[in-house]
Amino acid sequence: MYKKNGKKQINNVLAINYSKNIRLYIKREFLNHRFISGNKLRKLKYNILEAQRQGFRRLLTFGGAYSNHIAATAAAGKEYGFEVVGVIRGEELENRINENPTLQLANKNGMKFKFVSRLDYRNKTSDAFIENLKKEYGDFYLLPEGGTNSLAVKGCEEILTDEDHKFDYVCCAVGTGGTISGIINSSILNQKVLGFPALKGEFLKKDISTFVHHDNWELIHDYNFGGYGKVSDELITFMNKFYKTSNIPLDPIYTGKMCYGIVDMIKNGYFEENSKILMIHTGGLQGIEGMNQRLKKQNKTFINYEV
Ligand SMILES: *Cc1c(COP(=O)(O)O)cnc(C)c1O
Repeated sequence: MYKKNGKKQINNVLAINYSKNIRLYIKREFLNHRFISGNKLRKLKYNILEAQRQGFRRLLTFGGAYSNHIAATAAAGKEYGFEVVGVIRGEELENRINENPTLQLANKNGMKFKFVSRLDYRNKTSDAFIENLKKEYGDFYLLPEGGTNSLAVKGCEEILTDEDHKFDYVCCAVGTGGTISGIINSSILNQKVLGFPALKGEFLKKDISTFVHHDNWELIHDYNFGGYGKVSDELITFMNKFYKTSNIPLDPIYTGKMCYGIVDMIKNGYFEENSKILMIHTGGLQGIEGMNQRLKKQNKTFINYEV
């Protein structure tokens, strides 16, 4: 444990003090594995055990061109000896793998890609589509888009430990809702769990409700910055500044937006005096390179740290 410039590091939690004695702690889940970073490792754990138990040699899953889940599943496949098929949204990417750092890394880890049109991608859970995939690749263990299912939620129930029950608030970025569901289930009732969706949409509340046993949670919809994968100059500037002061790298899709939201809510008086807030840093850092490629092309402010 060390203390430097008001920053205190306790195990994998780092604290920043704000006014009114509000303290922000960061649980650095992104340190849990070099390649299968953050919550995606938690979500894959019991699915991989189940796939092994059922004797599968092949995993298949879905994702967009910059998906953390695609990157993590490819790395997990390599590590645990599965062949992995990634069904990727966007036919135009087929000949541009080497321009995309996420796909490049997944490719290096042995992922087989199937690029499909946006229309086909929308129908990816239909029986006919899945049957065709089985004809093409052979039998597989299916991981849904984003990796969320009940086994993924079970894995995410291991993110919070008993020691974390001392926090008044636990904050988590939300995509499909699997991660926050696990966190809600392992929180205690006098904690409040705040979810920060990285995309627009009201469906999340219903999805999360199907997985959770508690109602000590709330979704904060004010910080999606226009939708999934969308960023603004202000967000990127905030992330760069946050890195400078805390040495914590945030990702532009999930944790950057959440952290911006938490700091904004601290300023706006949402949290009471003496609140202890735990922010779950779910990783996603592999997405920085791809985002920077796009930002630099457009001459916009980019993320100025490397991970
Ligand atoms: C996927 C992801 C999330 C969202 O997880 P869900 O379980 O889909 O809600 C949050 N943060 C990061 C860094 C992610 O990669």
